[in-house]
Amino acid sequence: MSHVPPGCNYTPWRSPTIDSTWVYPGGGDYDGLLVEVDQTEEAFEREEEVAGWIDNAHAIAAKRREPTVAMGLQCNKPYECAFMAYCQSQSATKAPKYSVACLKGNLKTELKKLIKVQGVSDLRKVPNDLLNARHLRVKTHTLANTTYFDADAAANALAAHKLPALFLDFETINLAVPIWSGTRPFQANPFQFSLHRLNRSGKLGHKSYLDLSGKDPARQLALALIDYCGERSPIYIYSKFESTIVKQLAERFPKLARPLLAIDARLIDLQAIAKKHYYHPQQKGSWSLKAVLPTIAPELRYDNLDEVQEGGMAMAAFREAIHTETPTERKAELERQLLAYCQRDTEALVRLWRHFTGRATMAC
Ligand code: SF4
Repeated sequence: MSHVPPGCNYTPWRSPTIDSTWVYPGGGDYDGLLVEVDQTEEAFEREEEVAGWIDNAHAIAAKRREPTVAMGLQCNKPYECAFMAYCQSQSATKAPKYSVACLKGNLKTELKKLIKVQGVSDLRKVPNDLLNARHLRVKTHTLANTTYFDADAAANALAAHKLPALFLDFETINLAVPIWSGTRPFQANPFQFSLHRLNRSGKLGHKSYLDLSGKDPARQLALALIDYCGERSPIYIYSKFESTIVKQLAERFPKLARPLLAIDARLIDLQAIAKKHYYHPQQKGSWSLKAVLPTIAPELRYDNLDEVQEGGMAMAAFREAIHTETPTERKAELERQLLAYCQRDTEALVRLWRHFTGRATMAC
C-alpha cells in the first residue's frame, strides 16, 4: 500500500547515494558512481513518527531544566552523540560507577528494553539471566575488579602451532571515490603491512612493506606478502580483518589466488583466543587490540608514537603522503611514522602471543 496521499502534488525526493557495488573502470570515468534513490514513499510512511519526535523535542526544549538522563548505550548508537563531552563533564554525579555501556555487541531483546525503555544504566541492576556468557564475564569481573584468564585453555588452543611463527598486520585506505581501477567505493585497500617472525630460538625478525607511490599498491603488496610469508609457519593476526584483505586480494588477482588462499588458511586469530579466555575490567567490554594490549603489556604504548597512533591517523598520513604536492621531506617523515605504527601493531601481537602461550619470559 502506498503511503503517498492520493492526489498529493509532491516533488519526488531523490537523494544521490554512492553505489558501493560499483567498480571504477579507470581513466577518470565515474559514470555510475552515484545512484539516485527515490525516498518519497519512505518519507511519507514515517510522517507520523517524525511528528512525534518533533512534539517530544518541543516538550523537552520548553522545560526549565535539562532532563536527567544517565549516559548509556544510547550515547554511541547509532553514532556518537555530539553532546558526549558535555555529558561526560556532568557525569561525576549522573553516571553510575559500573555502566551498562561495557555490555557491547548484540544484546538480548529483554536487556535492550531494560536499558532503553526502563532506563537502567547501572550494571549491578542487570539480572544475570539477561546476559550471554561473554557479557556475564564482563559483568562479573567488572564488579569484582578482577582479571579473567584461563591460561591453560589459551595455551592449549595455541599448542598445536609450533615456531617459527609470523605476526601480520595490514594498514588500509577506504576511499569514497576510488582512484585505482578495479576497486570499489569504501573498499579497504591495503597499502602497507608489517610482519614479525619469531624463530625457534626466540629471535625476532621484522619485515615491512609500504607503497607511497600513489599507484595502486595492491598487486605489488600481494607479491611481497607471498614472498615474505613463505609456505610454512602459522601466521598470527588480530581480528578477521587480515583474512578479509587476503581473500579480497585473491579475488582481484586470480593468478595469485592459490598462494594467497594458502596464506589465508594459515592465519590464526589471537582476538578469538582473547575473547574466549581473557578479560580485564580496563577493557570496558571491548576486545580490540588497543583495549586488550595495555592490560597485558602497558609499556607497549601508541601514545609515544608521533602523528600516527591509530588506523584513522594512518589513513590520513597515507593520503597526505601520496598527494602530489607533499614535499619530499614530509613524505619521508610520514613514511617513517607509518612504518613505526604498523610495526608496533605486530610487536603487540607477539606480546599477546607470548602471554597467551605462557611464554612471557621467553627471550625475544
Ligand atoms: S551523550 Fe548525553 S545527550 Fe547524548 S545520548 Fe548520551 S546522555 Fe543523551
